[in-house]
Amino acid sequence: MDLEVLISEAEIQRRVRELAAEISRDYAQADELILVGVLKGAFIFLADLSRCLTIPRSIEFMAVSSYDNGDQESSAVRLVMDLRKNIEGKHVLVVEDIVDTGRTLNFLGELLAARKPESVKTCALVRKPDRARVETEIDYLGFEIPDAWVVGYGLDYDEQNRTLPYIASINPAS
Ligand code: 5GP
Repeated sequence: MDLEVLISEAEIQRRVRELAAEISRDYAQADELILVGVLKGAFIFLADLSRCLTIPRSIEFMAVSSYDNGDQESSAVRLVMDLRKNIEGKHVLVVEDIVDTGRTLNFLGELLAARKPESVKTCALVRKPDRARVETEIDYLGFEIPDAWVVGYGLDYDEQNRTLPYIASINPAS
């Protein structure tokens, strides 16, 4: 399978530090920020980002799965694993690996907002603008990439390639 590097390890590490600095500035007055990582893909991004923050933070995880109703336009998102923590009155930052159609981030944003947190914001490492199907607000974004299936830095193709230190597009046919 052919891999083509789109974002190098050095570029990712630099951008993660920049995002962490921005988030640390924005939440400097907050008692605590709850980082909600979306499994599985966000686990490496969340690990690196959280270690660069200079504010009090805690880590939680959620898992979702997308299912197709036969055509991509109507695919829906289902909650597979919920938070263990009550987020009422807390600041929450959803940390997502990649935003494709935008449905996952919208689903999670609405779900969490209904639990009356002090605030909910979103952070995504990469986004594919050409694939957007619903309007999504991403408060902290690492990179925009073209429409391609990408792997590495937490992202997989059939559970492979998650631990690559860079992000690469993959051509499974080759
Ligand atoms: P959305 O709900 O925005 O369409 O999709 C988001 C989810 O789809 C991501 O969390 C990720 O699990 C998966 N996804 C979308 N594009 C890619 C990709 O290029 N590579 C990988 N590994 N996962 C992707």
